[in-house]
Amino acid sequence: MTIPRKLPEGPVNLVGLTRPALLEALIAAGTPEKQGKMRVNQVWQWLYHWGVRDFAKMTNLSKDYRALLADNFVIDLPEIVSKQVSSDGTRKYLVRIAGGHEVEVVYIPETDRGTLCISSQVGCTLTCSFCHTGTQKLVRNLTPGEIVGQVMLARDDLGEWPVPGAPRDETRLLSNVVLMGMGEPLYNFDNVRDAMKIAMDPEGISLSRRRITLSTSGVVPEIARAAEEIGCLLAVSFHATTDEVRDKLVPINKRWNIETLLNTLRDYPRLSNSERITFEYVMLKDVNDSDADARRLVKLISGIPAKINLIPFNEWPGAPYQRSDQDRIKAFADVVYKAGYASPIRTPRGEDIMAACGQLKSATERARKSRKDIAQEAGL
Ligand code: SAH
Ligand code: SF4
Repeated sequence: MTIPRKLPEGPVNLVGLTRPALLEALIAAGTPEKQGKMRVNQVWQWLYHWGVRDFAKMTNLSKDYRALLADNFVIDLPEIVSKQVSSDGTRKYLVRIAGGHEVEVVYIPETDRGTLCISSQVGCTLTCSFCHTGTQKLVRNLTPGEIVGQVMLARDDLGEWPVPGAPRDETRLLSNVVLMGMGEPLYNFDNVRDAMKIAMDPEGISLSRRRITLSTSGVVPEIARAAEEIGCLLAVSFHATTDEVRDKLVPINKRWNIETLLNTLRDYPRLSNSERITFEYVMLKDVNDSDADARRLVKLISGIPAKINLIPFNEWPGAPYQRSDQDRIKAFADVVYKAGYASPIRTPRGEDIMAACGQLKSATERARKSRKDIAQEAGL
């Protein structure tokens, strides 16, 4: 059952405040200005390096200062409501945020890395026709604390906070973050940026900007900001090689078409000094998967340092598309590869728990519907 929680009022949540915001909050609560910077560093390390959630455990702070913190602040994270583990090791967390809304977070272990797929919004305002999240109404943007909180919760579950005194473990279970869960991150830009700044801070979770990938459907006016203000890698949900088809699959294309999008992308690597741009391409049977499409694709992106991620379509109940046959996907990949681009075919992960790309929120939505049915049956 979803139990709505009260929206926060009263004490300020420290999780999700950027360094400047934290400084301001500590001073407003009575920290002498001269001590401000030192206090920010101390609190920051407890929160984001050690993963401590209890002021009493911040042992290098005086009792009085701990009391001041406890009187004015809380350390509040979203709650893991349930966790499912796939036969392939993928973990899907259902996470409850303030107001009782829920988002899904997926952890994908691989041999050389572990990737956390996080959400930036509850639902999505866009309506890509192959995406299940797109069929659900947007409820709201996540706050910075709720976004970086997903990373913190996953570290809790993986047991990955450092242990005082123990040698530092350099192999990370959670080594990469992709903003590829629910929502369009560039429509919640400021909160995503603040959350990623916290995740990248070297005194804390310390993820390199090159291990964070933001995926966008193509919100052209915000793309340069992602390079300038976050500096992360970029993935673009491309999915079609003509405006006619892309208009149908990714309707934001009607606002910013393929040519406009590509012109913007040409500047991205230069701006962020980043590596290649990932072009995501969902393989939909007889819709966008022909050799002619593959040839058009490589022609369109020529001159952009790129990698093409081919995503076999993940079906969901009522989806209007089918996954392309494996042979077709391979033939498509081959054309792209021969043109000089890496063209990995993404292995669907966590399918048995509906954790694969574009399937998020399904379970919750189903649960919600059945609750509605129950309410109806009960005559409510
Ligand atoms: N809103 C952002 C990020 C979330 S979607 C975006 O659209 O880029 C993450 C990726 O999953 C996108 O490339 C999206 O197009 C893809 N995707 C959505 N539904 C899918 C499905 N049913 N099967 C495979 N990939 C899907
Ligand atoms: Fe939103 Fe991305 Fe899904 Fe499109 S693919 S509806 S932008 S989450």
